[in-house]
Amino acid sequence: MQLMTPSPAPRTRGAAPHVAVVGAGIVGAAIAWSLARRGAHVTVLERADAAATGSTGRSAAGLRHQFSLRANVRFSRFSAERFAAFAAEVGTDAGFRRVGYLFLVPPCQEARWAEDRAMQRAEGVRVEHWSLADLARRAPYVAGDGLAEASFGPDDGVLDPHAATLGYLAAARALGAAVRFGSAVVGLRPRAGGWRVATAAGELAVDHVVNAAGPQAGAVAALAGARLPVVASRRDVFVTAPVAGLPLPTPLVVDVATGVWWRSEGERLLLGRSNPAEAPGLWHAAGFSGHGVQHAPATGAAVAERVLTGGDAGFDLRPFDPARFAHAAPANTAEARVV
Ligand SMILES: Cc1cc2nc3c(=O)[nH]c(=O)nc-3n(C[C@H](O)[C@H](O)[C@H](O)COP(=O)(O)OP(=O)(O)OC[C@H]3O[C@@H](n4cnc5c(N)ncnc54)[C@H](O)[C@@H]3O)c2cc1C
Repeated sequence: MQLMTPSPAPRTRGAAPHVAVVGAGIVGAAIAWSLARRGAHVTVLERADAAATGSTGRSAAGLRHQFSLRANVRFSRFSAERFAAFAAEVGTDAGFRRVGYLFLVPPCQEARWAEDRAMQRAEGVRVEHWSLADLARRAPYVAGDGLAEASFGPDDGVLDPHAATLGYLAAARALGAAVRFGSAVVGLRPRAGGWRVATAAGELAVDHVVNAAGPQAGAVAALAGARLPVVASRRDVFVTAPVAGLPLPTPLVVDVATGVWWRSEGERLLLGRSNPAEAPGLWHAAGFSGHGVQHAPATGAAVAERVLTGGDAGFDLRPFDPARFAHAAPANTAEARVV
């Protein structure tokens, strides 16, 4: 894999703009450092008393290149190389280890995964197709029942999200950035040439506001009167007792059909999935693009069946599951229909 070097951090010209970054998760921290190294005057505003206490500190912290969307593959390629060079570029170790991602692919998705691998390889990413015989030989702890194949990314890996976030913030501070904890942003008002930011700990006037509030980004956008359709969704994560007999570290293994994932964390296994019982009783029948009239009868039948019995009225509703937006390309958004 060819190393892409980051741009040389050109400094801003003239008076440095003052940028408030809302949120001290890994995204806000990376933005703060990237702005500070380019000469901006940065203030990070975090409602909690410490960094990485939101979704960052609770994540599986995997990094994969195996996406369907080319733009995501490019973001991953750049990010993997930055995490690998973190100590040299940011000054601390982000704990990045290329343990790989192993996707277990069901028969109905085999063709799509072959197409995606071709695109990923064209982007310079190493990705391996494993037959079920390969899977039995290389990952004997995985049962191949019901699978068509597996897809392994040797360039994929996991990192330490706390270390990376704290590393970014420390490096940003060294460049002059301020990081204010206990500073929930509660108001955003436009002023000439910028914004007035009201926080639980006082107000400041800035030129720019970057909303990096993670699952709360929709609420922060609303403070400025903007609509950002980001909503929080709960995930279940479990950790086992030490498991004997596993070759450690394992890759991050994902069962594509169910979304269940697991990986080793020391001698234990970390595993999880989206909570399938999240928001029970809330159904969405929307996003029909230009075919809502013609598809209304089928939608009526399917939604009634789903609400009353959990069934599907003989339709394949999986392509319309809103949960697919977590995995799929935005091109699919016009196809949103029913839960
Ligand atoms: C179980 C689980 C597994 C995951 N696995 C992975 C994975 O393997 N790989 C991966 O890349 N991603 C994974 N993710 C997703 C990843 O954790 C998030 O995408 C990422 O952490 C987002 O970072 P962030 O900085 O945007 O948000 P956060 O880490 O949530 O940070 C947002 C910050 O904003 C602060 N904030 C909110 N509102 C305000 C306010 N009004 N004023 C001031 N501060 C505010 C919050 O306190 C928080 O600290 C996983 C997530 C979960 C829950």
